Amino acid sequence: MKTKTFKQGIHPKYNKDLTNSKPLEKANLPKEVTLYLDQHIGSPAKAIVEAGDKVKLGDKVGESTGFISANLHASISGEITAIEERRDSIVIKIKGSEGEQWQVDNPEKNLEDISAEEIREIIKEAGIVGLGGAAFPSHVKVSTDGKEVNQVILNGAECEPYLTVDHRTMLEQASEVIYGLKALMKSAGAKEGYIGVEVNKMDAINKLEEVSQKDSNINIIPLEVKYPQGGEKQLIKAILDKEVPSGGLPLDIGVVVNNVGTAVAVTEAINYGKPLIERGLTVTGAVNNPQNLIVRIGTPIRDLIEECGGFKGEPGKIILGGPMTGQAQSSLDVGVSKGTSGILVLSKDEIEDYKDPRPCIRCARCIDGCPAKLMPTALANLAKNDDVEGLEKYNVLDCIECGSCTYVCPANIDLLDWIRIGKAKVEAKRREN
Ligand code: SF4
Ligand code: SF4
Repeated sequence: MKTKTFKQGIHPKYNKDLTNSKPLEKANLPKEVTLYLDQHIGSPAKAIVEAGDKVKLGDKVGESTGFISANLHASISGEITAIEERRDSIVIKIKGSEGEQWQVDNPEKNLEDISAEEIREIIKEAGIVGLGGAAFPSHVKVSTDGKEVNQVILNGAECEPYLTVDHRTMLEQASEVIYGLKALMKSAGAKEGYIGVEVNKMDAINKLEEVSQKDSNINIIPLEVKYPQGGEKQLIKAILDKEVPSGGLPLDIGVVVNNVGTAVAVTEAINYGKPLIERGLTVTGAVNNPQNLIVRIGTPIRDLIEECGGFKGEPGKIILGGPMTGQAQSSLDVGVSKGTSGILVLSKDEIEDYKDPRPCIRCARCIDGCPAKLMPTALANLAKNDDVEGLEKYNVLDCIECGSCTYVCPANIDLLDWIRIGKAKVEAKRREN
C-alpha cells in the first residue's frame, strides 16, 4: 500500500497492543468530578455557579470569557460543593444520582438544513475543544475570519505510543467521524475533507473508506507509521504536500486540522444537543486490565486506575497523555480534562532505566529526528545561556514539543525541558514589547 509521510521523525516503541483490540466501554460514573476552568487553551472560563447550587447533567457551570475560551458543563448531576481557588477549579459532588446518561436517540440532522454559522455556534455553546491533547477551542478553528479554507483534515494518525482511543473511535464510530468531518467542512467553508490514518490501523482505514464511499470529496489517506505523524504541520505536509510557514498557522495556507474524537463530539452536539461532558481515553501501561474508556470530564484518575484493575506492580510514574507529550502527575486526585487522551502508568522498573544526563557527544541524532527542522542541541544551549535573541533567530517557537529529540539523545539530555524554558523566555519578551 502506498503511504504518505513527512521528512525526518523517529520510530519509538509503540506498545499499542495492550489496548488496540479493546472496544470503547463507558466508564463507571464518578461520585465526584473536578472541573478545571482553565482546561483549554486561551482565557479560563468563569464560574457561573456557587457552592450549594444544584446542577443537572449538561448544565453550563463555566462560561467562556473571550474569543479563545470555552464553556464548561456539569458532567454529572449533583451539588456544587466548592469553588476552589487553587488551579481555578470547580468541584461538583454528586448526591443521590441514579446515574443518568445523555439521551442520544434523536434522528440525524440533515447538514443542508443547518447554516455554517449555526454549526459554529453549536460547537461554541457545547464547549468543544480539540480532543487530540491540545484542547484548542474548536469554534475558533472554524471561524476563518474571512480567510479561504480549502481543506479540513482529521487527524487519525494517533502516533503517540500506547494510546489507542482514536483507533477505536474510528473503528466503532466511523459514521459519527464522517458526519463530524462534513459539519466541520461546512462550518469552515471547505470543499475537501481528509482523514490521515497510520497503516498500523488498517481496520480503521477500511471502515472509514466503507462509510465514506459515496462522498467523493472525502479522502482517507494511509500514512507511514512514524512519530510525530499526527503533528498538525507534519500531517499537512504528508497529506497535501504543503508547508505551514514558520510562525504561521494551518489557516494561513487554507487548512483546518481537527482530531477524529473532536469530529464525534461535533456530531453529538449537532444531533443530540450534547455538550462536551465526556471523552474517550486509554488507560494503559502498568495496570492490571488496560482499557479504552468513555469517561466523564473531571473523573479522578484514581477511579479509572481502580476500574482498570489497579496498579500492576509498583508504579513509578503516572502520565496524563502518552509518553512523548504527556504530563507526569503527582496526585491521583487530579480530574480528567477535555484534553486528556490517556492515563499511562509506567512501573518503577521502567523509570529506573532513566540515567543521569551526560555531556553532548555531537552525534546530531536530535537534529536528524526533529520534524520541525530545528537544532535542538543549539536551542537547549541558548536557553541555558538565557540568549533570547539567539532563540528567536533559531526559531524556537516552531518547536512542536514532540519530544523526539529527548527520546533519541544517547546522552540523556533533557532537550525538550530546556527548549520549553527557551520558548517561555521568548514569549515573555514578546509580551513585554
Ligand atoms: S526541537 Fe521540538 S520539534 Fe524538534 S524534536 Fe525537539 S521537541 Fe520535537
Ligand atoms: S542527540 Fe544528544 S548527544 Fe547527540 S547531538 Fe543531540 S544533544 Fe548531543
